[in-house]
Amino acid sequence: MAHAGTQVLPEQTLESTARAALEREPRPAPQRAPFGPLRVVHAFWLAGMSCDGCTIAVSGATAPGVEGLLTGTIPGLPKVLLHHPVLSVEAGEEFVHNFRLAEEGKLGAPFVVIFEGSVPDERLAAESGGYWAALGVEERDGVRRPIPTAEWLQRLAPRAAAVIAIGTCATWGGIPAAIGNPTGAMGVMDFLGKDYRSALGLPVINIPGCSPVGDNFTETVAAILLFLQGLGPLPEFDELGRPAWLFSQTVHQQCVRGGYYEEGSFAERYGDKECLVEVGCWGPVVQCNITSRGAINHLGGCMNVGGICIGCTMPGFPDRFTPFYQTPPGAVLSTKPAKLTGTFVRPLRRLSMRFQNREVHWDDVGAVPTGWGHVKEPSPLERVLHALYDWWRFRTAERPGRTRPEEQYPDGYEVPAVARARREGRS
Ligand code: SF4
Ligand code: SF4
Repeated sequence: MAHAGTQVLPEQTLESTARAALEREPRPAPQRAPFGPLRVVHAFWLAGMSCDGCTIAVSGATAPGVEGLLTGTIPGLPKVLLHHPVLSVEAGEEFVHNFRLAEEGKLGAPFVVIFEGSVPDERLAAESGGYWAALGVEERDGVRRPIPTAEWLQRLAPRAAAVIAIGTCATWGGIPAAIGNPTGAMGVMDFLGKDYRSALGLPVINIPGCSPVGDNFTETVAAILLFLQGLGPLPEFDELGRPAWLFSQTVHQQCVRGGYYEEGSFAERYGDKECLVEVGCWGPVVQCNITSRGAINHLGGCMNVGGICIGCTMPGFPDRFTPFYQTPPGAVLSTKPAKLTGTFVRPLRRLSMRFQNREVHWDDVGAVPTGWGHVKEPSPLERVLHALYDWWRFRTAERPGRTRPEEQYPDGYEVPAVARARREGRS
């Protein structure tokens, strides 16, 4: 699939097919699925400027797993027939055959296009008689040439039920599109243009991440398949085509180290357990769910394993997050109030924690019966503070413990069964 090589006809640039696709009237997104019930849906996986990391991430997904999608064993979902340049068992012309059927509208079933890696500007490669990324070969005007994956995208996109860009290279351009790159690389959305709509009227769906969380992809695909089946609503996407339920929160809002930030405790070096913002974490301004979802099978995920956030899900990545591993300018300001508040809050919380670490009757006997070490008794000042704390807690509530009925009901108390019998004249 993605190879540098030769034999691209310069006149076969993507402009004409691009123009044809973009000249079509944009269609409104459908409210109801036009398909379903479906037995199979084809998925054509194309790779542009890619490291195959997205494929690896997706193959590790568990909720749902790729196996369930491919075998059609997930209730309500059709079977997915995946045409993948690395994972499919077919090769050569046999592999490309289904791509051609899809292009010609002869597949006999709906299909989605999944694009991994950024879309290079093949015109730049064609100038020197080469290509950046291709899949299959065809003969035109007596010349055999590799077919750029960008051209496959152009050919298949108009008939696809949905075009899904997976990974930050495919969504926004990512590392191959970083400033200074010679390939003119871009994301699928940039390549197809803002007026692009799939056969179902959908703009490009974007699932970013470098690499993405595999579950984010399979879960979105499952939601789209349910929609195609007519069993679910069209999932909600944000203004950049990201699944809204997966990308609306920041890393920081879900981070396992958020409590340290709030108490003003910051790591000074890698390996420290505190918040990593001063060693370069961009989590407070990055939309990503990896800290709550985990990287694979709900395990791992950047801060969970000691890493900082370098903003790999964001359109500004990588150029707007460099230099990496330095305090982001915004953090210089925002950590100051946290440090100031933390100076007061931390000692008060530790005091409270010591109090909550004591069984009530240990206070009565004045000792903690542990053989594991010595627990210091509270000082007179701490006792006063604890008494105040208790008074505050119970100022509008009843203290726990056993109370005699006559104490609890000073106006008189009767056992309910006795009172009922008396009312009914039975006693
Ligand atoms: S490590 Fe990053 S994401 Fe986590 S609390 Fe600190 S700044 Fe926020
Ligand atoms: S936490 Fe940051 S670096 Fe890690 S996956 Fe999410 S966006 Fe990328």
